[in-house]
Formats: sequence, structure tokens, C-alpha cells
Amino acid sequence: AAKRSGRNDIAVYDAKLHETYLERQQIEADLRKAAQSREFFLVYQPIFCVKSARVCGYEALLRWQSPVRGIVSPNEFIPVAEETGIIEEIGSWVIRKACKDAAALPEHTTIAVNVSPVQFRSRAFVSVVTRALQDSRINPNRLEIEITEGVMIGDAGEALKILRALKALGVRISLDDFGTGYSSFSYISAFPFDKIKIDQSFVRDLGQRSESLAIIRAVSGMCSSLGIVSTAEGVETEQQFEILRTEHCDTMQGYLFGKPVALNELNVSNADRVAAKVA
Ligand code: C2E
Ligand code: MG
Ligand code: MG
Ligand code: MG
Repeated sequence: AAKRSGRNDIAVYDAKLHETYLERQQIEADLRKAAQSREFFLVYQPIFCVKSARVCGYEALLRWQSPVRGIVSPNEFIPVAEETGIIEEIGSWVIRKACKDAAALPEHTTIAVNVSPVQFRSRAFVSVVTRALQDSRINPNRLEIEITEGVMIGDAGEALKILRALKALGVRISLDDFGTGYSSFSYISAFPFDKIKIDQSFVRDLGQRSESLAIIRAVSGMCSSLGIVSTAEGVETEQQFEILRTEHCDTMQGYLFGKPVALNELNVSNADRVAAKVA
């Protein structure tokens, strides 16, 4: 009986796998169409600077408004876009659009753009950034490229070359989701990071797990010793904000300050209210 149910499980599993496979195929087909028919748009989330008590930047976050699927989360479609190579086209659009939008935002603010490992290593990447900066005429130091630890996996020498080329343009580099991947001290000292973004999982657990506080304290201390800006992601409550401020996190991002919104809705963020409180 055990064997029979085992075989049955395999059949069910196969069917599921096949379903997943078909679903992927469909997403891929829809993504290709989406890239051509402008179904993508960017939303912006404010980044709050503790010292100046004001918004000092925005992170551009990609959204896909699909006619058949509704709004699709990047966590769902970015992996498919990466596997199929469509990410190069989408990612280039994101960089151009974010730079263009930055030109309409205050000069003292930065614009952060997420770049996936596949896009980062693609041949045209540095020239796409160069062109976007030229066309938008923004100061290159207003553009922040966010990469994850995944970028360093594989040919680290090649990754370093790309980072140096970006730095030569005047662009800033952030290490996103720090602490969730393959964190290594060797590349923090070897790579030219301007900012480290502490992953939101550590912030979420701040009240409950003393380990999270210890890790945030350590990362924040390391950043200030190395002259790297520290950012806490996913800050939702005033209690988290107070703890992170005590731990000298330089900048913070999360629903407490504002959710990601369209460019023309940016003024309605909570950040000003928080600023008034801490001032
Ligand atoms: P990320 O770069 O770490 O972005 C932060 C994510 O946390 C965003 O999710 C944001 O909406 C969410 N978030 C911000 N504040 C809070 C908060 O207080 N609480 C909670 N629970 N969540 C918060 P989103 O927009 O769904 O993006 C997910 C991920 O997709 C991003 O993580 C990034 O890795 C990727 N992504 C987004 N846009 C792009 C893009 O243009 N290109 C690439 N390659 N990846 C992108
Ligand atoms: Mg990011
Ligand atoms: Mg992150
Ligand atoms: Mg993330």
C-alpha cells in the first residue's frame, strides 16, 4: 500500500511540476508582450535620513500591470525575466525611466535602482547607465545602483571591474538585503560599497529576538567604521525606528515613512510627520 501511494505521490508531483512549467511558459510569453506594450511602471518609496530628519532619496520599485493578471509582484516575475534574459530589456527601461524621473525630484535626493545579477553582468549594462545619465542630465552621484550578494557569486573579479566602471561614472553602489545571502566580510572590504541595506527580516524581529538587535548593532558599527552608510529596510513602527536610531542607523526605509507610490503621489508620504516628531 505504501508503494502504491508513493507512486501516486509521484504522479501528483509530476502533474504539479508540469503545471508549474506551463505557468512559467505563460508568464514568459506574457512578459515578452509586456515589455513591448508598456505594461511596466515604477513606484517610489521614500528613504529617510535620520541626521537631517528629512527624505534624502527614493527607491524605484518595478510593477507589472498585466491586462490578464492584474498587478504582479516583482518577486514573481523578476526570476522568470532573469531566466529568460528578458531582464536586460526591462532592466534597461527601469534605469532610463528612474533617471528621467530623478530629474523631476529635488536635487538633494538620490534615486535607488535595483539591478539583478543577470542584468549587472550583461555586456551593455555600463553603457546603458552611461546613456541614461547623459540623457537625463542628472548628477551621477544621485543614482544609486542596488545589487545583492548574488552579484559577487561566480567571477568576483569581473563583478569588481563592473563596479569600478560604475564608480568611475560617479554612481553610488548599495548592497541590498544584507544578511540574507552569502554575506562575507572579504567582499565588503574588497568592493566599493557606499551603502549597506540591512534586510527587513532583522528589523521585523527587533522586538522579539535579541539576536536581531545584536546583528543590527554589529552591521551598523561596521558601516560607521568603514565609512559606509547604513540603511534599515522594512521599518514599520515607531518602536523599531527608536531602536534603530539608538543603534545609529543612518537612513531608514519602510511603511512608517511611506509606501511605494507613483511619482506624482510622492508628497503624501508619512516621512514629514515622522520628521516633525524627531526634530
Ligand atoms: P528590495 O529591493 O529589497 O525592495 C524592498 C521591498 O520591501 C519592496 O518590495 C518594498 O515594497 C518592500 N517594503 C518596503 N517597506 C516595507 C515595510 O515597511 N514592510 C514590508 N513588509 N515591506 C516593505 P517589492 O516592491 O515587492 O519588491 C520586491 C523585490 O523585487 C525588491 O526587494 C527587489 O529585490 C525586486 N525588485 C523590485 N524592483 C526591481 C527592479 O526594477 N529590478 C530588479 N532587478 N528587481 C526589482
Ligand atoms: Mg532594493
Ligand atoms: Mg532589500
Ligand atoms: Mg529584496
